[in-house]
Amino acid sequence: MKMEIFTVDNVPLIKEGDDIAGIICKNCEVMDNDVIIIASTIVAKAEGRMFKLEDIEAGEDAAKIGKKHGIDERFVQAVLDRSKEILVDFPIILVDTKNGHTCIKAGIDDSNVENGFLADLPEDPDASARDIGEDIGKLSGKKVSVILTDTNGRAFKIGQTGIAIGVHRIHPIKNWIGEKDLFGKVLEVTEEAIADEIAGAANLLMGEGDGGCPVAIIRGLDLYSEDETSVKEMYRSGREDIIKKGLRCLSKV
Ligand code: GDP
Ligand code: MN
Ligand code: MN
Repeated sequence: MKMEIFTVDNVPLIKEGDDIAGIICKNCEVMDNDVIIIASTIVAKAEGRMFKLEDIEAGEDAAKIGKKHGIDERFVQAVLDRSKEILVDFPIILVDTKNGHTCIKAGIDDSNVENGFLADLPEDPDASARDIGEDIGKLSGKKVSVILTDTNGRAFKIGQTGIAIGVHRIHPIKNWIGEKDLFGKVLEVTEEAIADEIAGAANLLMGEGDGGCPVAIIRGLDLYSEDETSVKEMYRSGREDIIKKGLRCLSKV
């Protein structure tokens, strides 16, 4: 078996209003079944989701948390404004965002962003993936999948990895339940997080620094789906999420 991963070269520094689908199609000939992986940072820039701390006024809660961390309370306010629940406020700030993602600092990021600015996650990453994917489809006439990625830590391990935050025409989970193993045993629980695996592989080429490679393509996988798909297919429901339940207990101690 074989697959290829390569970057799309000549992507400029992205500014508000830039046409990411157009830039990809200008610099690369996409094919049917390609999975196009795009760093959320450039989508945020194109969507104009940059902001400055100067424009934020911090409230009491933000001031308290900021003091504990020794960080700018206006940054904490920005995180609180984007969150519907604070799961942990120290020594990390882990939240559920208003658009339903669980992440550190609501995904707000200042790396690879013009000095003085912060970048928000795209408001609705599935919708951004869909818009870019449909535009690429129109420009190229090909059936492609899109995965928007971000860099996230893992709960139990050191080290960050690329993960999927939005998908289009690819289901984030491959269900192995009911398939047989090498010895004929029926698999009972295995669900493979393929969108995160692909994001991790693409992140190997993107890197985290000044590489200037925010777009990668994986060719050779057969994962295109005609259905509408959503990254939320891989989020546990509140009832099933025992880790969040545990964190809520801790914060009451
Ligand atoms: P994130 O994982 O979405 O937060 O994005 P990163 O900040 O880790 O950047 C991923 C890759 O995209 C790195 O190779 C960056 O150098 C690159 N990158 C970020 N912004 C731009 C941009 O505006 N233009 C180009 N060409 N590359 C960018
Ligand atoms: Mn990021
Ligand atoms: Mn990154």
